[in-house]
Amino acid sequence: MNDMTDLEFLPLGGTGEIGMNLNLYRQGESWLAVDCGIGFSGNDTPEAEILLPDPVFIAERRKALVGLVITHAHEDHLGAVAHLWPQLGCPVYATPFAAAVLRRKLGEAQLLQQVPIHTIPPGGAFRVGDFDLSFIPVTHSVPEAQALVLRTPQGIVVHTGDWKFDPEPQVGPPTDIAAFEALGREGVLAMVCDSTNVRTEGPSASEADVRREITKLIATLEGRVAVTCFASNVARVETIAKAARAANRVVAVVGRSLRNLEVAARECGYLADIPPFLSEQEANSVPDNQLLLIVTGSQGEPRSALSRIAVDTHPNISLGEGDNVIYSSRMIPGNEQAVIQVQDNLTRRGINVITDRDHLVHVSGHATGGDVRRLYEMVRPKYLVPVHGEWRHLTANAAIAQELDIAPVLLEDGDILSMKESAFEVVDTAPTGRLVLDGGRLLQMNGGVLSARRRMLFNGIVLGSFAVDEEGYLIGDPKVSAPGLLDAEDPETARVTEEFGNALDEIPDELRENDVTFRDAAKTALRRALGRKLQKRPLVDVHLLRV
Ligand SMILES: [Zn+2]
Repeated sequence: MNDMTDLEFLPLGGTGEIGMNLNLYRQGESWLAVDCGIGFSGNDTPEAEILLPDPVFIAERRKALVGLVITHAHEDHLGAVAHLWPQLGCPVYATPFAAAVLRRKLGEAQLLQQVPIHTIPPGGAFRVGDFDLSFIPVTHSVPEAQALVLRTPQGIVVHTGDWKFDPEPQVGPPTDIAAFEALGREGVLAMVCDSTNVRTEGPSASEADVRREITKLIATLEGRVAVTCFASNVARVETIAKAARAANRVVAVVGRSLRNLEVAARECGYLADIPPFLSEQEANSVPDNQLLLIVTGSQGEPRSALSRIAVDTHPNISLGEGDNVIYSSRMIPGNEQAVIQVQDNLTRRGINVITDRDHLVHVSGHATGGDVRRLYEMVRPKYLVPVHGEWRHLTANAAIAQELDIAPVLLEDGDILSMKESAFEVVDTAPTGRLVLDGGRLLQMNGGVLSARRRMLFNGIVLGSFAVDEEGYLIGDPKVSAPGLLDAEDPETARVTEEFGNALDEIPDELRENDVTFRDAAKTALRRALGRKLQKRPLVDVHLLRV
C-alpha cells in the first residue's frame, strides 16, 4: 500500500527533441494526468507524421487514474487525447476554449459521446478525486492557457504549462501575477516549469509590438498578401485580421485547421469584432489589392495549403509575381528543411517572402530566461523540475533556478520522482516509448511492423516462395522476387532463384517435417543465396506451401 500522503511526478513525454507532453502525478493511491499531446516527426522518422507517447504505464493503472487535466489547446498538449483516451478512460478537465477544440477532435474520432469533459473556467478551482486543484491564467500563444496548482499533503506544486509574461497579450488577460505572488507568500514546494525558450535572454517581446509592426507592414504591400501562422494563435489571427482591415483588405482563410480553430474561437466569444472570414472559394472574387489570405502551412507540412500554393497545385488559391507571403511564425526545430523548401518554391515564382528576420512579425509564446527568473523570484519554490524542452533547455532552466537558491531536479521521460519536502529523488523508472499514427492504427515506433518497414525502405525485401509435398520435398521450381532491390529481368534474380533452389535441396530431412523449422531453414537458405554481392541486408521472408 502506498502512503496516502505520498507525492510523485512522472513525465512520460516532453523531455527531448519531440515534445509530446504527458505528465503524471500520484498522490496516495490516485493518479492524475496533465496534458496528453502529440509530436510531429522530424527527418529521422520519415514514415511517421504524428508521434504519441506510449501510455502503457498509466493504461495499466487506469482504475487509479482519476482524471486528465488539459492546460491549453495546443496539439503538443491535447492532440493525443482522441487517440489515447480509449486506453485512459478517465474524465477530462479543460477550459471552455480547450474543451471546444477537444470536442471537435473527439467528434472526428467518434468518441464525443464517451468522453466526459468537465469545463473549468480560467482561474477556477476544482477537485479531481483526492486532488485539490486550481488554474492560474497565463499568457501563451493560444487563448485560456492555464498553470495548474496542486495543493497536496506534501505542499503546493505549481505546474506552469506553457506560459510567458506579456503585459499586452491582445487576446485574454495577462499572466495573473497576483495569484503567483500569493502562492509565493503561502510557500511553494515545487514548480514544474516550461523550458522551451529560456535560452533567450531578457523579457519577452509583446504581441502588441507584433500587432503594430504587422499593421505597418501590410499597409505598404501591393498585390495579394498571404500570412501563415498557427491556427490556434487566436491573438495572432486577430492581429492579422485587424491589420488587414486597416489596409482595406478583407480576410479569407485557407486550410482546414484554420477553419476549425476559427469556429472554436468564435464559439467561445473570441474574434467577436472581426467580420466572418471568407472561404477560399469566395476569395477569388476579391481584387488582389483588397484581399488578405490567412493560410496554414507555416511548418512546411507537405499537404498544407501553403505548400500546395508554393508549387501552384492548390485547387482554389494561386499566388504569383509580386504577391507576398508573410511567415508570422517560427520554424519548429526539425522542420527547417521543409519550410525552406516551401519558401524557395515561392521565391522561384516571384513571390515576396517575409519572415521574422525581416520584420517583427512573430514573438514566441514561451517564457524567456528573463520571464522565468521573474516568476521564480515571485513564487520562490523550494524545488524546480524543468520540463518541455531539449536537454540544453532543461539545463539552462535549471541554471537560472540554481542562481536563485532553488534546487533543480532534472528528469528523463520515465523517471518517477518522489516529492518530499526533505528530498526530491528518482525512486523508479516507468516504461516509455513512442507510438506512431500509421493510417488509422497506433504502432510502436520500435515495434516489428515499423522496423520491418524501415528495413525495406533502405534495403528492400526478398521473398522466396516454394511448394513441397507432405514429406517436405520440393515440387516445381521456387520463385524469388525482390521488389525495391532487384528487377525481375535482372540476371541476379535468376542466379539467386537457382541458388535458393539448390540450398533448399540441401536442407536436412529432420527440419522438413515441421513448418516452423523448415521455414527458418529456408530463410537462411535464401539469405545465403543472396550472398554479399549486393552489399545489402534486405528483409527476407519465405512462403512455404505444403500441398
Ligand atoms: Zn503551447
